[in-house]
Amino acid sequence: MPFTALHPDLGRVDATLPDLGGGLAWSQIHKVRPRIPLACPECSWSLHPKVSRYGVRFFCHDPGRPPSCELSNESWEHHMLKLEMAAAIRAAGWYAALEVPAEDGSWRADVMASSVDGKQRMAWEAQLSPITLDDIAARTDRHSDEGIRVCWASPHDQTPQWISTVPAVRVRPPDEREQPWIVDDGLAGFAFSAGRWMFREAALPQFVRWALHGQLVPALSLPRYRKVYRVVDGKQRRLRRSQWWTSLQSVGDQERHEAMRQRQETAKAEREARLKEREEEAVRRRLVVEEQERVSRAEESRIHWEKIRRRWAEEMRAGRRRRPRRMRVSLSSRPSRKRGNGRP
Ligand SMILES: [Zn+2]
Repeated sequence: MPFTALHPDLGRVDATLPDLGGGLAWSQIHKVRPRIPLACPECSWSLHPKVSRYGVRFFCHDPGRPPSCELSNESWEHHMLKLEMAAAIRAAGWYAALEVPAEDGSWRADVMASSVDGKQRMAWEAQLSPITLDDIAARTDRHSDEGIRVCWASPHDQTPQWISTVPAVRVRPPDEREQPWIVDDGLAGFAFSAGRWMFREAALPQFVRWALHGQLVPALSLPRYRKVYRVVDGKQRRLRRSQWWTSLQSVGDQERHEAMRQRQETAKAEREARLKEREEEAVRRRLVVEEQERVSRAEESRIHWEKIRRRWAEEMRAGRRRRPRRMRVSLSSRPSRKRGNGRP
């Protein structure tokens, strides 16, 4: 169910605009006879204007449409999110065009926001179907190549993984009609004193206004700040996020905090290096003392043995003088002892 249709005279008409974007009243196309031949901008099948029971205006394919038309395969929730984003963009004072194709047909933006002076464009994409990280990054790059900023939005309860890959948010529909949708994931502020990112919530119109006006920017979380905490269903949960929508103030605060942490780490490393140096110096001094003690003990030992050797030498000399007599005595005494065996 597209919000846009191709009018035979006016080109694209947009059911979400009061004048359909072409100076035309809804009553001029809705339930008029003969029918205005409107065509689907995606598959060219014939469309007829329709109004939902809540008063939402849209276009509906006539029976027999091609099954591959992406616009008709998008869910009601997808269309409602596009509508909310378009309304928020218009409330912020920018133009919003729905289902805008690229000139070369390589992409189609769900909602394209344009500044009044026409110098800035930002695509708002409602992404409900599964998409790989590579695909969503490639689609983001295609917008960037044309100077178009982008924000992806998911309304699923489970936050998609790509929230950390591309500029993105998770949005929550309101409990009550007339209440705004809420951006409840993907938006954060950096708390300098705590040294970490903190989840923030904002009403979708407020978020869209801030993002369009550059008060919120996509920013990467530095590696040491990727862990974040959030209470989910009464339980504290630890999550990882490597990209946020945040304020320039928070971007600066994260950088200042990182610089402070690096200074602290450098100072700590220097303290440790000094301590290590002192310990090594103490070891060196102890080794020197031990070596001196060893040398001195060796010297004492040498002197001691020198004395002993000298004494032996003296004793040897003295002994040599006495030895001949003693030897004679001992030689002559031995046989006499043997001979004396058996004597009384
Ligand atoms: Zn179609």
